[in-house]
Formats: sequence, C-alpha cells, structure tokens
Amino acid sequence: MNREEWDINVAKELWGLNHSIRGSIIAVDEEGYLVISLGEQKIRVKNLLEKHGFDVAYIRVLPLIERTMRTVYETFTELAKVHDFKGGLQPVFPMKVNPIEVVIDAIWRYGEKYRWGFNTGSLGELELLSKYLEKGGRILIYDGVVSDSVMKILVRFKGNGWRVIIDVESEHDLDILSKYPEFEIGLRIKPLFRPGGKWAHSAGLEGKFGLTVNTLVKLREEYKWIEERSRLLHIHPGSQIYKWSDIEAFINEAYNIFTQLQSHGFTSIEIVDLGGGLAYPYLDTRNGTIESPDYGLIEYFNHILKVFSRLEKHPTLVYEGGRYIVSAHRILVAKVVDIRPYSTEQAQSLRSVRVEDFLSNVRSIDDLKKLVNEYKKYIHKSKQVHQYTLEERELAEDVISKVRDELLAKIYELVRNKPSQIESVINDPLLYKLVTSPSKRYILNFSIFADIPDSVLVNQYFQVVPAQRLNEKPDVLAVLGDLTCDSMGEINEYISHVKTPLEASDWFTKMDLRLMLIPGRRLKLGGVPLHLPIKGENYYIAILDTGAYQDPLAMKHNLIYGAPEIILDEKNGEVEVKIIEKNGKYL
Ligand SMILES: *Cc1c(COP(=O)(O)O)cnc(C)c1O
Repeated sequence: MNREEWDINVAKELWGLNHSIRGSIIAVDEEGYLVISLGEQKIRVKNLLEKHGFDVAYIRVLPLIERTMRTVYETFTELAKVHDFKGGLQPVFPMKVNPIEVVIDAIWRYGEKYRWGFNTGSLGELELLSKYLEKGGRILIYDGVVSDSVMKILVRFKGNGWRVIIDVESEHDLDILSKYPEFEIGLRIKPLFRPGGKWAHSAGLEGKFGLTVNTLVKLREEYKWIEERSRLLHIHPGSQIYKWSDIEAFINEAYNIFTQLQSHGFTSIEIVDLGGGLAYPYLDTRNGTIESPDYGLIEYFNHILKVFSRLEKHPTLVYEGGRYIVSAHRILVAKVVDIRPYSTEQAQSLRSVRVEDFLSNVRSIDDLKKLVNEYKKYIHKSKQVHQYTLEERELAEDVISKVRDELLAKIYELVRNKPSQIESVINDPLLYKLVTSPSKRYILNFSIFADIPDSVLVNQYFQVVPAQRLNEKPDVLAVLGDLTCDSMGEINEYISHVKTPLEASDWFTKMDLRLMLIPGRRLKLGGVPLHLPIKGENYYIAILDTGAYQDPLAMKHNLIYGAPEIILDEKNGEVEVKIIEKNGKYL
C-alpha cells in the first residue's frame, strides 16, 4: 500500500464505527462521509448541519433507541427458550439516565409492545411521567426517598391502573408506607460485592442505596407487614460494569440473596430486579477496559437465565438498564472554528542548527533513546538557569520544535525500514509520549461542560469521528478544545484499536508523522487522528454515544449551553426530521 492509500475499512476501525449497537445506522458512504442510514436513506451528517446553518447540534437518532429496546427484548426471549425459563421479562427505563421529554416519549411509544415500564427516583421525574398517567398502566418502580408528596402522586398512578412498587431503604420509608397499606413494596438490598469501575461506590455495604440484611432483619421485628407486602427484590451493582467476572459475581450474589430471603419467610417476592450495570461498549473491541467491556448482552442474559432457571418457581426478571438503551441515540456534532499549534512550532528555517547531522549517525531506536535523554536533561537545565531575551527565547523554541520534528521523522524512517523496532518505541515512556503527542489543537464550537459533562466529571471516554473525509488517511493528531475558558474543556485522549494488518508507513499520520495505530494493538494516543481542513472547508467533528446521562448533567459554564437539536425518526418507512432551536449561546 503506498502512503496515499487509505481504506474505508481501516477508517471504520480507527474511528470505532464497527459497533454492535449502532450497527449499520451510523455508517460511512462511498465518498467518505459519516452518514445516518435509515431505511433507504443515507443522510450525511455534514449536510444536515450545513442545511440548517448549525455550527453545533445534537442529532438524536430515535430509531437507535427502538433498535436497542427490541434487541434487549428479543435476546432475552430467545435465551429464555434455551433455558426453559418461565418467569418472563419486565423491562423498565431508569429515568435518571435521560429524563428529557423526547427520550421518555420514545421509550413510551417504542415500549408499548413490550410493556416497558419506568424506574423513578424523584418528584420531578414522577411529575414528568404524569404526562402518561392516564394512557394506561405500565409498571412503575419508585426507588427514591419516600415522602407524603411523593405518595400523593403515586396514589394517582395506582388509581390509573399502573402497577406501582415502592422500594424501602430505611425505617423512615417504612414509617410512611405504614399509612399506605395498599402499596406493594420492593426491598432494595445492598450487595456485599463491589465491582470495579467508576461507579463502584454505589454498591457494597458503604453504598448510598439500600438496606443491609441486618437492618432488614431488625426492621422486620417492628414492621411485621414487610413480609407479606414485599413483591420485589432490587439490587443494583453500579453503572458500566465492564468486567465479565464482576457481572458473574454480582448475578450469583443476587441469586443467593433471593433464595435466602425466600427461605427466611419472604415468600411473596416474585420479581427480581437486577438494576443497571450492563456496560455500554463506548469502544466495541472487548478489551475488558472501562470503555470496552469484555462481554455483551448475550453473555449477560445467558448467565442470568442460567442461574435463575435453577429455581423451582421462576421469578419475573426486571431489566433496568439505561446507559445501554439510550447512549447511542445522541450524536454531538461541532464545527472546527480554529486550529492552533499544540506546542511551539518552528518559525524560521534553522540552517545554523544542524539537527540532521546530529541524527545522521543514529541507526536504531536504542541509539535514539540515549540522545533523547541527554537532550532532555540539557533542555531542563537550560530552562532553570537562563534569563532569556525574547530573541533567545524564540531561538530556543525553534530548536526544540526542530529537534522534535527531526526525531519524529527519524522514528518514522527507522520503523518503516524495520517495523519490529516499534516495540522499542512503545516500551520507552519518553518516546511513546513523543510519537503519540498531538501537534495541533482544534477549537470546536461546543462546550464540554454543556455537551459531554461526564468527560470532565468522570473522565468518560466518548468516540470522536470526523464527519467527512473518512476515505482519507488522517494528517495529524489533535487535541479538541472547547469554547470555555477552562483548561478542563479539552479532549486529549484517544484509543486506537485497529486489527487489519497494514504496512508500517500506514501506522503514522500523514503530516505530523505521529503513531496512530499498530495492527492488533490497543493504543492510547494523546490526540484524535484528524485531517487538516483545506482553506474554506467546513470541517465537522462528531462525538458519538452521548445519549445517556449527558442531557440532565449539562452545565452552564461560561453561559455556553443548549445546542439546537435535529431529531430523526422513522414514520411509516419515511424519515421524519424535527428541529428544536435552543437559546443557549455558542459562537
Ligand atoms: C442508575 C441506575 C440504573 C441504570 O444504570 P445503567 O448502568 O445506566 O444501566 C438502574 N437502576 C438503578 C437503581 C440505578 O440507580
């Protein structure tokens, strides 16, 4: 393959577009544009923004929610047959994951067939759900703090034919529920097991939610009615459990708690709610890392069904995943409004500094390592002792950038001639950092705080992909900066995991010669592989999988918030486009 060739299949791997949940709905067309493919139509993301004159927008692909709900339901049903499981599935949507009206409305409509219910945890969520109060009964699991004002709304739901189950987590909840004997209750129990991940603190005995078994045993003495009113056992392991062994351990513990409670008199429990936790593949390469879980929906349901079908009487199982259902539906798209050098760039051609000579004797990466380490010590020392004049400072910056560029060119040349030398590069922290460092900072018309707050809150990984030129090899590695005056408003990490074998010259970006992939390897890069926009080109960047948690957590930092929305749905085989303008201020 010569240096100018680039294959769309490699592009799909590099930018994470081979994806089990987005499937063929988010794809690339023959001319290298990112498209949303619905029915017969392929809609270019770039055209969609240009047509409406938006420099930033959320594209909501509602059919992705429908597709995921259907997959969850059908996968369970198929596997239930395999295990001869008779208990059935009761899916519910935990509203906290995305309580905006468009999403709840989609869940309501698409969920009709499956009687998809809801899990709510606050008065606000109950009020929003009240829009559907009279539309017919679904299941409603309330697992927030109980109060008389909450009970007032729940009484109305029950009166309208909803099946309402209220979780108890404390004596306070039981006190209030004593006054409402007509309500069924759920026991929210704290699991002993604490899985790995960013939300591990929601499980375990110190977790915020649920009863410990010893509290339950104590309370049962005083509130004798718990036993007969308990219908549901509720255990939630925390979100995004990315390791299969943790999921297995959690399910086994849930089974154990259920059978123990039954044998200790809680025989009226007929529903087991295993909470959320089914991890969303932000990167679908099954690495067993937080962004790339090492299992999927099939393994998840298969184990649950295997375990619970051992029982003589099968309980109804509640699926309460949120992230898995709605993550894929929202794509954030923003235009590049400025491109800046990431570090210093060489301003003058430095004929006086003969870096080439100095590198000409370097024959291997090991030679190079020695030089780099000496050079680094020298720079460090001169930074400490020198009071630079402006001219000297300029020269020093030029030398630094010239040396860096020459080193990168040398590494490229050495690896191209002998690909196995890449091992020495990636095993040396300094060289690895150099070859995966960004050369540009792209400023995008968006706000990380408003659009993808979890990027700052929990360092959440989101897939970034250019909206055009996917049929071209990327030019540079670039950090993405937002419009806020906050150094945290930046995306400076990219995970590359390309499996297709390629020649060593194709492992590097075209212009700045950074390492962007090694076939079969998972690499953390210091920037996103992107193209340099041509003068006058509208270059858009899409950030995928932002449909869970980001809408309700959005912040108003610098008063930059509330992007316009392009909502795509399918009605009778036709694509329907709805626009919601917002008053938030961007550029
Ligand atoms: C947050 C939450 C969920 C949803 O978890 P996901 O990991 O997003 O699927 C489910 N159940 C309860 C009780 C929750 O608090």
